Amino acid sequence: MTTEDTPIFDVSSWGLTEKQSQLTTLARKLGQEKFSQRAAKYDREAIFPTENYKDFFDSGLSGICIPESSGGLGADFKTYMLTAAEIGRYCGSTALTFNMHVSSCLWSGYLIDNFELTPKQRQEHNIIREIHYRRILKDGAIYAQPFSEGGDAAAGSKAFGTTALKVDGGWLVNGKKIFASLSGHANYYGALCTELYKKNNTPERANTMYIAVPADSAGVSVEGDWDPLGMRGTVSRNLIFKDVFVPENAKLMPSGIYFEAAKRWPHMFMTLTPAYMGLAQAAYDFTIKYLRGEMPGTPPVKRRMYPTKQIAVAEMKITLEQTKSLWFQAISEAGPNPTRDSLLRAWAAQYTVMENCNKIAQLAIRTCGGQSMLRSLHLERIYRDSRCGSLMLPWTSELCLDMLGKGALYKSGERDD
Ligand SMILES: Cc1cc2nc3c(=O)[nH]c(=O)nc-3n(C[C@H](O)[C@H](O)[C@H](O)COP(=O)(O)OP(=O)(O)OC[C@H]3O[C@@H](n4cnc5c(N)ncnc54)[C@H](O)[C@@H]3O)c2cc1C
Repeated sequence: MTTEDTPIFDVSSWGLTEKQSQLTTLARKLGQEKFSQRAAKYDREAIFPTENYKDFFDSGLSGICIPESSGGLGADFKTYMLTAAEIGRYCGSTALTFNMHVSSCLWSGYLIDNFELTPKQRQEHNIIREIHYRRILKDGAIYAQPFSEGGDAAAGSKAFGTTALKVDGGWLVNGKKIFASLSGHANYYGALCTELYKKNNTPERANTMYIAVPADSAGVSVEGDWDPLGMRGTVSRNLIFKDVFVPENAKLMPSGIYFEAAKRWPHMFMTLTPAYMGLAQAAYDFTIKYLRGEMPGTPPVKRRMYPTKQIAVAEMKITLEQTKSLWFQAISEAGPNPTRDSLLRAWAAQYTVMENCNKIAQLAIRTCGGQSMLRSLHLERIYRDSRCGSLMLPWTSELCLDMLGKGALYKSGERDD
């Protein structure tokens, strides 16, 4: 009989709320009982975790960030992050794609509810978002989040090249997205694009739109192969929009609000971290079980008595606890208009999770030894998945270092010339 895994964030030690306790427990149980059993197949075949999404739907988790008043579970930012970390522990690809799906609700729900809108914008948005929420809760719709285009736009320094030209009753969308996780599996692509009012308008970042393009619209196609190092179950292929007509109710945020939100609610970009927080815990868990001779599928040989291994485990534990503490603090203080110090901490937390996840995974392989990296065990998958975290725009590890260095040395608007 398998024993139930203990929480990444213990309810009493970390002061979790009742809802946080319930949802993290639900995610952990699903992860341990079901997702962990399927993860190897998704990884090996680089296929989408369809069965896990059925479980998300059946358990209500697909509506985790839909407000309770609209029939969802009403999780706030922190509750979502803690819950998603438990999923990442058992299947990195499922947690990463879950982030793309949930962001459509988190950004149109909790984030917008904590943001100033005009009464007209608020009223219009509340009507439109109900359409999206009904699709998710009643029809089991899955949303993707394709932003990346291979240029500077996803890093936030240029307008998106994908455009939405205003036409009667909606928009005509044109462009190409790369690394579109859930491609070919999502029902809606929550794309970031630049709204144009005339064909020859210059694209402006302030006109960024977040809209849900129905996957079955004429002009939507998925292309390219998908055979990456890690996070293989995300199926992040290229997405082409060619004169795709998208109706008015496709908006996931009122026009122009994404640009403001990216500046005033920057913690929203941290939602890529829980998958990797979970993987860091998983690499640590593996090592403890393995060295104690308790890893299923391996002979019951204990290796814990060697001092070098004890020191390596101590280093892993210290790194894990540092990562958890900084991440927990950053997600606890997330909200609109953060102080400068809070924003620097968010970048530091993002960097720490993405880098330390990989550091713990590589220490785990070195410490457990040759047999631990065989494909019959899951550590090598954790290791490969963990390498992808620092590549995620807009807050890649490199960009976090850039922003942190500049942010610490320069006050807002300060220059040297
Ligand atoms: C498994 C996986 C799943 C993904 N899923 C999605 C998804 O669902 N949706 C989505 O939109 N994207 C997704 N991405 C894409 C990801 O967010 C990045 O856009 C992608 O990794 C960038 O690859 P690139 O080769 O174009 O990098 P580049 O854009 O060439 O960047 C390479 C590096 O250069 C640096 N850099 C980039 N731009 C700047 C700049 N302006 N200033 C300074 N430095 C810069 C960054 O450190 C970056 O890591 C996914 C990526 C992976 C690995």
